[in-house]
Amino acid sequence: MTEQTTPGRQEEEIQAELERLRARIAELQEVRRQLETELRDTASGAPAPITTAAELEATLRWFLRRVGMILQAEKAVLMLYEPETGELVAQSPALGLTQDEIEIFRVRATQGISGQVFREGRPIITDDATGDPRTVKENVALLNVRNALTVPLVVERKDADGMVVERNNIGVFHVFNKRANGRFAEEDVTLIIALAKSAASVISSAKLYIAVADEKRELERTLQGMLAGVLVVDGDAHIRLMNSAAKHMFGVSADDGTGKPLSQVIRDEEVHELIRSCLSGDAEASAELSIYSPEERIFQVQTALLLGDNDDVSGVVATFNDITELRSVERMKSEFVSTVSHELRTPLTSIKGFIRTLLDDTEGYYDRETQMEFYRIIDTECDRLVRLINDLLNLSRIESGRALDLVLAEVDLPELIGRVVDSQRSYTDRHEFQVVVAEDLPHIKADRDKLDQVLTNLLSNAIKYSPDGGTITIHARLTEGDKVSVSITDQGIGIPEDQIGRLFTRFHRVDSRDSRKQYGTGIGLYLVKHLIEAHRGEVSVTSEQGEGSTFTFVLPADLSLEGDEEKGESP
Ligand code: ADP
Repeated sequence: MTEQTTPGRQEEEIQAELERLRARIAELQEVRRQLETELRDTASGAPAPITTAAELEATLRWFLRRVGMILQAEKAVLMLYEPETGELVAQSPALGLTQDEIEIFRVRATQGISGQVFREGRPIITDDATGDPRTVKENVALLNVRNALTVPLVVERKDADGMVVERNNIGVFHVFNKRANGRFAEEDVTLIIALAKSAASVISSAKLYIAVADEKRELERTLQGMLAGVLVVDGDAHIRLMNSAAKHMFGVSADDGTGKPLSQVIRDEEVHELIRSCLSGDAEASAELSIYSPEERIFQVQTALLLGDNDDVSGVVATFNDITELRSVERMKSEFVSTVSHELRTPLTSIKGFIRTLLDDTEGYYDRETQMEFYRIIDTECDRLVRLINDLLNLSRIESGRALDLVLAEVDLPELIGRVVDSQRSYTDRHEFQVVVAEDLPHIKADRDKLDQVLTNLLSNAIKYSPDGGTITIHARLTEGDKVSVSITDQGIGIPEDQIGRLFTRFHRVDSRDSRKQYGTGIGLYLVKHLIEAHRGEVSVTSEQGEGSTFTFVLPADLSLEGDEEKGESP
């Protein structure tokens, strides 16, 4: 009887064990299905693709925890192949490994079980990691590995029918130390291979996304940082991108623009026309446009077609370079050349005329006094030429970045003012000159010739720009901080308020009818500013249109003192 019951009981036990195993397999298969779906969702981009390293890390952490739970493993780590070094390198995050262990854990793709699984693409179970001749012993010791299950990380590319068209091995996946001193079994292999496939696909697509997203961010930063405006529209003339320079040019607010029709965002008809003609197919163009934002600015606009995969037009990119300053300097330069020629020709014509008259007077028609008057005029015109040439030389010095070397000496300012006023008096019989010099005015250390040039420029302007005459007052006094202030006040045409800021820029001339009547080069005040600044001084202007102007320069009284101190300090 006992012989009969024993096999019966054994059978029952086997049946029960089988039932238990079936239930466990069903349970594991369910978990696997669930995991696969979750991972596939992440990999396929639903609900949102992984685009940052932080998102990838969070997903992998979750994945490793689940794997640890399902396989009853203490540790799990993904290793990716690095073609540059030929190594398989442990990735962070990992389950049950410290950050230090992750950083140290790497093997050559020709070494150990990791290498073998990677090369052969087949899983390996190791029951005794220490005794197994295939394992790398330092790593076994480092990670305290008892037993292991290692599978390849394979990325599969499928065609539209779901057929695998490409298989790419990107690394290996280790699961170490089955809990409760268990061993990894074949059922674990089946389970983990499917999971590893999903993990590999998540990693490779996420890495691709992250690389593309990084590149996109880099590109956006570059575009936003550009001084040139960049505008990209799609085939339907909707704005796809506008960098901050372009938004500024067209007065578009920072968060507006993208996605809207071009015509809604940019009102300038010429811009529409340029982009439309480019979109219509053939015309990549370059044009110079005036855009009012709000004052007129000149832009060099370049359009280029964006072509799609089949070379069809998918949009247009337009770049806008602000060339307003360039154009205005070009215009001023060409005006400058013609005015300088005129300024040179006028005194030369006069000199030539008087010399010819004197030479032709073989009969002694002109008396001594008239002859002297002719000589004085010739002398004055020569001075004018010398002044102009000096101005030009100083301009070229400043333009080429060379310093205006100062020859410092003690200057008796009242005497210098008196001399310049006397020489300027000879150019006009319509103006009164009034010189007011404070009694306590000290002698100053300065470059006499350069101060002469400053005073001459300011006084000749005061004469030129008060064509109806009037009083010109020169006022010199001592101001706070041991500084000397000199102001020249005229009762002339004055300067429009909006022009005052630009007065001291080279070639700038006020564009008014009264101002244009006077010949000039537009470099006088530019030089005055540089010459005064070379003396560590400042120049300023106040003016009322139709009433007159006051130009004031302030200089340190004892400039040489600072220079001497500096010299004394250097060996
Ligand atoms: P310019 O050779 O034209 O006189 P400046 O640089 O000396 O060149 O002066 C620049 C412009 O500033 C002049 O063209 C003129 O329009 C204006 N300006 C200078 N001084 C006076 C002044 N005293 N009164 C009115 N306008 C002046």
